[in-house]
Amino acid sequence: MTSNNAETLFIDGAWAPAENGATRTIICPGTGEEVGTVSEGTPADARRAVAAAKRAFDDGAWRRTPAAERGDFLLRVAAEMGRRKAEFARAEALDTGKRLVEAEADMDDIASCFRYFGKIADSHPGRLVDAGNPAVISRVVYEPVGVCGLITPWNFPLLQASWKIAPALAAGNSFVIKPSELTPHTTLLIAEVLNDLGLPRGVANVVTGTGADVGAVLTSHEDVGMVSFTGGLATGRAIAESAAKTVKKIALELGGKNPNVIFPDADYDAALDNALNAGFLDSGLVCSAGTRLIVHESIARRFVDDLVERANSIVMGGPFDESAQTGPLISKEHRDKVTDYVNRGVAAGARLRCGGHWGGAEHEAGFFYAPTVLDECTRDNPAVQEEGFGPVITVETFRTEEEAIAIANDTMYGLSGAVWTTDMATANRVSRALQHGTVWINDYHPYIPQAEWGGFKMSGIGRELGPSGLEEYQQAKHIYHNTEPAVTGWFPKA
Ligand code: NAD
Repeated sequence: MTSNNAETLFIDGAWAPAENGATRTIICPGTGEEVGTVSEGTPADARRAVAAAKRAFDDGAWRRTPAAERGDFLLRVAAEMGRRKAEFARAEALDTGKRLVEAEADMDDIASCFRYFGKIADSHPGRLVDAGNPAVISRVVYEPVGVCGLITPWNFPLLQASWKIAPALAAGNSFVIKPSELTPHTTLLIAEVLNDLGLPRGVANVVTGTGADVGAVLTSHEDVGMVSFTGGLATGRAIAESAAKTVKKIALELGGKNPNVIFPDADYDAALDNALNAGFLDSGLVCSAGTRLIVHESIARRFVDDLVERANSIVMGGPFDESAQTGPLISKEHRDKVTDYVNRGVAAGARLRCGGHWGGAEHEAGFFYAPTVLDECTRDNPAVQEEGFGPVITVETFRTEEEAIAIANDTMYGLSGAVWTTDMATANRVSRALQHGTVWINDYHPYIPQAEWGGFKMSGIGRELGPSGLEEYQQAKHIYHNTEPAVTGWFPKA
């Protein structure tokens, strides 16, 4: 990978510039400084990458590699990720502006993801089916889809990529990935790792560039069998429409408006600490961020006062500032969006308890936004219903369990949510009633690669991680083998 001479398209096993020589400068959101220059791929580059991926798939070197060996390869990727963790984490921190410790944690999670799919690569060999005829061998086998178009966002660039790359390779597919144009570097590094470890030429391709130029080719090209996308709802809808024209398989991981429900019997200190973590970790730039606090009215005043006090003391800083507890937003444009979102929430009646500003003169170099609490929100406040995608917690209160559930489900999204209570029965009832793809009881944020991740309602289609995460990249084929062929007699000879 040669970022500084901008030959960052990885197509058919070779690094190349964009066909028109275009480049883009990547800026660190924490400092405003230039991080590097990458190629700005064009539609023609994307088509070239799809052609390479198709050739590689048709050639079969990877898809015919025994699944257990594909798994071994992914285990080697996991080991290499461990070896190069510092380099990868630094690149991720520079592109995203997130704190180095958070980027390091992401790298551990990425290695775990490759390890998990490495281990289960050969776990889905298919099954025999009783056809009701002893002469028939009927079996269902799972085959790769073909060329996968993978499109990823800027908040967890390589983590989201690994949730797609690892199962796509485990299943025997080839792929073209388009990372967010804002955060491409770690996706380029992983391509380097895959290549160095000997993945056959053309199986993995990376085209850096915009959604409109590169992404749109992946979602519309007839040789792409599947699109897996992580990003915003509006983009997800556009991708679903585009992919429908060639009837592609699609997997969509979209946004969330995630409730964090606090019952009065909850462990107070743990619930408070985790409410901060839920909403402000990574500046709230987490699809599953618990930004919708729903707290029982009997403890709401104290809980929110304490939350505001703690939020006010959160230290913001750039990726390598060891005193920092949270980082910046991704860009100036994104900060403008969060500013507008908070202003609209306040205009609709929310009470601004803290934040609501960029954080003072010392934060002018990066795109910071101070941790913000919007209290006394009504359900229809736009700040409650929209995904703000920033460090902004809205507060609503409830009286009864039924009301808490109704509020938590009153959203078009359904990605994740949490319930805090020490009562087992309440925890069980509420966790089953929440219409969200992941529910935490007395915790917030942990996920494990063995368990499915994905959204109910408008938070997405399909699942990543877990056995379903592998199945997304496979298609079932029924093979009906009659070992004693016979005349059917349906159309007798005249
Ligand atoms: P985005 O939708 O703006 O962009 C995501 C990717 O799509 C980028 O690579 C972009 O270039 C590409 N893209 C844009 N338009 C396209 C088009 N027309 N065709 C094809 N590709 C196109 O999202 P973002 O701002 O980068 O990321 C933030 C969003 O991602 C948030 O809504 C967040 O909730 C969501 N997200 C969801 C999950 C999850 O697991 N559900 C995880 C992380 C982020």
